Amino acid sequence: MKKWFIVATLLLGAYAGIAQKTLIYCGQLVDVKTGKMLPSMTIVVEGKKVVSVTNGYAQPGSGDKLIDLKNKTVMPGLIDMHVHLEGETKKGAAADRFTQNPAEVAFGAIKFANITLQSGFTTVRDLGGSGVNIALRNAIARGEVQGPRVFTAGKAIGTTGGHADPTNGYRKDLMGDPGPAEGVINGPADAYHAVRQRYKDGSDCIKITATGGVLSQAKNGSNPQFTEEEIKAIVSAAQDYGFKVAAHAHGAEGIKRAVRAGVNSIEHGTLMDEEGMELMKKMGTYYVPTIIAGRSAADSAKIPGYYTDMVVPKALAIGPKIQATFAKAYKAGVKIAFGTDAGVYAHGKNWMEFVYMTEAGMPAMEAIQSATVSAADLLGASESLGSLEAGKMADIIAVDGDPTKDINAMGKVRFVMKEGVVYRQDK
Ligand SMILES: [Zn+2]
Repeated sequence: MKKWFIVATLLLGAYAGIAQKTLIYCGQLVDVKTGKMLPSMTIVVEGKKVVSVTNGYAQPGSGDKLIDLKNKTVMPGLIDMHVHLEGETKKGAAADRFTQNPAEVAFGAIKFANITLQSGFTTVRDLGGSGVNIALRNAIARGEVQGPRVFTAGKAIGTTGGHADPTNGYRKDLMGDPGPAEGVINGPADAYHAVRQRYKDGSDCIKITATGGVLSQAKNGSNPQFTEEEIKAIVSAAQDYGFKVAAHAHGAEGIKRAVRAGVNSIEHGTLMDEEGMELMKKMGTYYVPTIIAGRSAADSAKIPGYYTDMVVPKALAIGPKIQATFAKAYKAGVKIAFGTDAGVYAHGKNWMEFVYMTEAGMPAMEAIQSATVSAADLLGASESLGSLEAGKMADIIAVDGDPTKDINAMGKVRFVMKEGVVYRQDK
């Protein structure tokens, strides 16, 4: 046994010694740390990581691989802080939860994960599903399925009848009374129970629905649905397990309760008022706007029968407001991390959020930073993700054109590398 182990170690060692390096020539490189565009750069990748980023076009050694992106803009792999990889919007989707088996959800999720990676998003935070999202994360990490690196909340946590109560809108005898294991809590003790269950399930972070939401079968889309005490209990339990907490919140009161209770990010934030913005600045809370989801839901609500009668008025009232709130929050100096709520609109269109962010007054460079350095900071993964530097993961993408001159370039992804492996390289 021991002898074979030594032989194998020696072989691996020898292999590592002659490991092939990959040189990537960048026409220009987005330096997300400084917000500068650097012309004519070379990134050297070995294994999963970046080993150097240098000026000019370095000569490859014998046996090195060369990837020529001299006519492209290169940047770190993008990070979407709010996706739902288990599903995608479609007319009448409310009935799916009665007909779809987990295996069917999983096959769809494989497709959506692949589309997301091909669009240049090498990391995502999945903020809620049935638990298939946890299995998907593992399958991607094992290399069985192609997709972005996933940080997932597993099943989101809500309160009885709240946005994340999975039995909302059911017939009374089917409704039952789901508890903390299914992510429905009432009171601080339940909050601890639910967070610990997420830990046991294998979640990476916690998602709560601090206020009503648009697409649930419940009347109110913005009321506070947790007490501040309950959110404090969630945050304190989450900290025990090293989890960050993301709070879905549309209404101003629910936003403030969540921020005061210490959550790490506010998702959507639609009706955020100035007091809420000041609180977020004081607490260092990130805002993840998801403008595209609001716009897309409002558009879909105009198609007869697309959503249930319960959802339509909420989508029309809340959806279109996010962009203006984002404009104010950005101007006020609230920290922004890029997130889209992919699944509420079609996966792969995540890049449109960049267009909407710049439309609302954020410069393109800052929008890219929100999807790289800032997103990595909110993930708590800045040591390995979010920028291209020696020792960090080789998550690298390239687009046609210059996004600082025309933001639509973000929709022209032509090259995708994740952990040193090329997943897309268009001719
Ligand atoms: Zn969402």
